[in-house]
Amino acid sequence: MNRDRFPQLEVDLGKLKENLTALRERCQDSFVGVAGVVKGAGAWDSVVRAFDSAGLSYLATSRVDQLRGMREQGVKTPLMYIRIPMRSELADVVSLADASLQSDTDILRATEAEAARQGKTHGVVLMIDLGDLREGFWSAEELVDAAVEVERELPHLHLLGVGVNLSCYGSILPDKRNMQGLVSLAYEVEQAIGRRLEIVSGGSSTSMYMTLNGTMPYRVNNLRLGEIALLGSVYGCSPDFTNKDVFTLRAEVVECRDKPSFPVGQLTVDAFGRAREYEDRGIRRRAIVAMGRLDYGEPCDITPRMAGVEVLGASSDHTILDVEAVKDRIKVGDILEFDVNYASLANLTNTHGVELVTRG
Ligand SMILES: *Cc1c(COP(=O)(O)O)cnc(C)c1O
Repeated sequence: MNRDRFPQLEVDLGKLKENLTALRERCQDSFVGVAGVVKGAGAWDSVVRAFDSAGLSYLATSRVDQLRGMREQGVKTPLMYIRIPMRSELADVVSLADASLQSDTDILRATEAEAARQGKTHGVVLMIDLGDLREGFWSAEELVDAAVEVERELPHLHLLGVGVNLSCYGSILPDKRNMQGLVSLAYEVEQAIGRRLEIVSGGSSTSMYMTLNGTMPYRVNNLRLGEIALLGSVYGCSPDFTNKDVFTLRAEVVECRDKPSFPVGQLTVDAFGRAREYEDRGIRRRAIVAMGRLDYGEPCDITPRMAGVEVLGASSDHTILDVEAVKDRIKVGDILEFDVNYASLANLTNTHGVELVTRG
């Protein structure tokens, strides 16, 4: 009897470690340290173990409960908190993380007070916004002032460096121009505080292509990499040396029969209040797997591995597949495999109904 439970997400630790090692080595060749970002896999303990053994500069995440989980797991790599901290969570941020990204002078002062209270030194990376319009100081002058204040007046904070976030909200591509802007800013801060910064953090997975093609300015010496390690690629950069199948999603077929492809009756809205369009392709074989939006989010974010299987849509708990092209190969009780993307991976690892399975 098959005792596996579904839906099920499997991580292949061997493949993940190969990705991490290959990326760390390429970065090292360019004198770039890696902060490995585990939020995309919900700081799943198996994934964290692989990251922790990969010789990275930091393990990073954007959630305090994930920081706590990693501490409880006993990770050896220093921890970096990469969401701009809320005032209300500073006690946890200071006690759990070795460093955080920061973009507000008041919060820096409050972090200092908390670090003093806990008798700790907390590392900070000041973020500059170079056009993506997510977090970061907008004015370089303001950032330099904040850097000087941290350096001279906030003794329980250690100014590690400066960083930028790109291709997130504003979809701005990391390029020579914004990276050079970051380098100039680092230089300005160094002039103002009279010493060299340890970290100049040039962004996330979407900056990796510059390191790989040799266009990253020499002074950028840190990247915060999540997606490209977990999934082996990121939009615009798919190296030939990474595994793209670290994760496998599996779901069980609970119904498989011929039905019309156009709904019968008066059309209104679907279960989520959305008006939808349907193409009439006649009678087709459809399969339903017991897995839905509550598990992975949006049905467009999972891809069936079997050629000829097409995702038609989903409710909270069911995903409807067109299997006409492979109708002799699928029956009730079968297990179908899917590839995930960053969005579905984050959802699948942050929910209760999905069995997380570790291989290797
Ligand atoms: C999520 C995140 C990253 C990592 O992004 P990837 O696309 O997974 O590499 C880096 N920096 C910050 C601030 C983030 O929030």
